[in-house]
Amino acid sequence: MEEKLIKEIPKKSDNLAQWYIEIIKRAELADYAPMKGMMVIRPSGYAIWENIQRLLDKKFKETGHTNAYFPLFIPESLLHKEAEHVKGFAPEVAWVAYGGSEKLQEKLAVRPTSESIICAMYSKWVHSWRDLPILINQWANVVRWEKVTRPFLRTTEFLWQEGHTVHANYEDAQKEALTILDIYKDFIEKELAIKVYTGEKSEREKFAGALHTYTVEALMPDGKALQAGTSHNLGQNFAKAFDIKFEDRNQSLKYAWQTSWGVSTRLIGASIMVHGDDEGLIIPPRVAPYQVVIVPIFKMKDRSTVIEEGEKLYNELKNSYRIIFDSREEYTPGWKFSDWEMRGVPLRIEIGPRDIKENSLILVRRDTRKKIKIKREAILDKTSLLLNEIQKELFLKSKKFTEENTRYPKDYEEMKELLKTKKGFVAVPWCNNEECELKVKEETKATIRFFPMEEEDVSGKKCVVCGKPAHRIAYFARSY
Ligand SMILES: [Zn+2]
Repeated sequence: MEEKLIKEIPKKSDNLAQWYIEIIKRAELADYAPMKGMMVIRPSGYAIWENIQRLLDKKFKETGHTNAYFPLFIPESLLHKEAEHVKGFAPEVAWVAYGGSEKLQEKLAVRPTSESIICAMYSKWVHSWRDLPILINQWANVVRWEKVTRPFLRTTEFLWQEGHTVHANYEDAQKEALTILDIYKDFIEKELAIKVYTGEKSEREKFAGALHTYTVEALMPDGKALQAGTSHNLGQNFAKAFDIKFEDRNQSLKYAWQTSWGVSTRLIGASIMVHGDDEGLIIPPRVAPYQVVIVPIFKMKDRSTVIEEGEKLYNELKNSYRIIFDSREEYTPGWKFSDWEMRGVPLRIEIGPRDIKENSLILVRRDTRKKIKIKREAILDKTSLLLNEIQKELFLKSKKFTEENTRYPKDYEEMKELLKTKKGFVAVPWCNNEECELKVKEETKATIRFFPMEEEDVSGKKCVVCGKPAHRIAYFARSY
C-alpha cells in the first residue's frame, strides 16, 4: 500500500505545480492549516529553515549586524507616516480592532514588514553621528493578506529576517544595501545551490518607500522567475517621515539614511522547485536536515551483526554529519530507499552482510542515483567528498538551466514569442519608460525583473518596444 502511494507523485516534468504541492505534503515539509492561505511548517521543513537561519545569521554577524526583536503590532498612525509605504502595503494588512471585548482606540496592524515600528524607535535612539551606524536584524514572522497562496512561496503568514540599518550618509547606506545583496547572492548560490541574478528593480517594481530596491532573482523549472530576496536603500524617506535626525561632526542637524533587507521561508520553496525530480525532493547537503541516511539490509540470521555494524558506522559519522540510522524493522530496505529518496536526503549508505564480509560499503547519491562501492575505512573522507560534489553539481545544473533560459531577442516580436513559448528571462535594451513596461506586461504577463548590476553598454541601441534610445538592459520574465 505504502509503496504504491509513493509512486503516485505526479511527474515533475508533467505538472510542476501539482508535483510541488504533493511533494511538500508527502515529504512532510508543511501542511495546510485550517485557515485559508496559512500553512504549518512541519519538523522536516523547519529543520531546513533552521539551517538557513544558522548560516545566514553567521554572515550577518560577521558583517557587524546584531539581532533584536520589535513588536508584532503597529499602530495605524505609525503605518500611515510614510505615504508610499502605506499605499504599497494597505491592501494586504491584517488589523486588530479589539483587545478582548474592548474596542481599541487605535487599530493595530499586524506587521506586514517592520519599517514603521522600527523607525519610530530609531527616532528615539539616534541623536548624534556617534550613534551611527545602527545595524540591526530581526528574525520574525510577518502577515500579508494574500489572495492566491502556495506553500512556502506565498502564504499569508511567513517567516523571514528583516535587516534595518541607519547611516550618516547616502554612500554608507548604498554600500550596506549592496553588501547585503552580495551576502544573499553568495548564500543562495553556495548554500542553496541555486543560480541567481542580481540587479535593481524598476520604479514600478521597487519596494514601497524605497529609493533603490536591489533583488536576487532565480529561475524556476517552469521558466518563471522567483524574487528570492531584496535589499533596499531607503534614502531619507523614512527618516523624514519618522524624524530620525542626528547631529553631525560639524554640529549641524541632518536626516539619517537607511536600508532594509530580507529573505524568507520562500527560499525553501525555491530549493524544492529547483532541485527536486520525479522521485521527490533533492535537498542541497549544506541545508539538508539529514545529509546521510544509513539503511541496513539483512535477513533475520544476520540481524544483530548488521545492526551492530550500522550503529558503529553511525557513531563514527554522527559528529561530522547530520545523519540518521534507519533501523526500523517494520519497513523493507526497498521501501526505505524510496522514502528517503522522496525526502531528498543527499546520500544513502547501504550496509549488509556481504559488505561487512568484504569490508566495504555501498553509497548512493540522491541526485544522480549512482551507486558507489567504497572501502569501509574510506567512509569519512568519501562522505565529505561526495556531499561537496553533490552540492557543487546541483549548483552547476541550476546555473546551466538559468543561462540556457536567458535569451536575447532581436526585436519585440521575437521577445513576445519567446515569453510565450519558452518563458525564462529575456534581456533587451530598454528606454526606462513606464509605458513600455506596462505594454509588455499587458501583452505577455512578463514584468521587468531587474536591471543587471553590471551596467552593459547600450550606446546606439534602441528600446525593444518603442524604438527610442535605450538607457540600460532590462531582464523580463513572468514570475511567481
Ligand atoms: Zn520604450
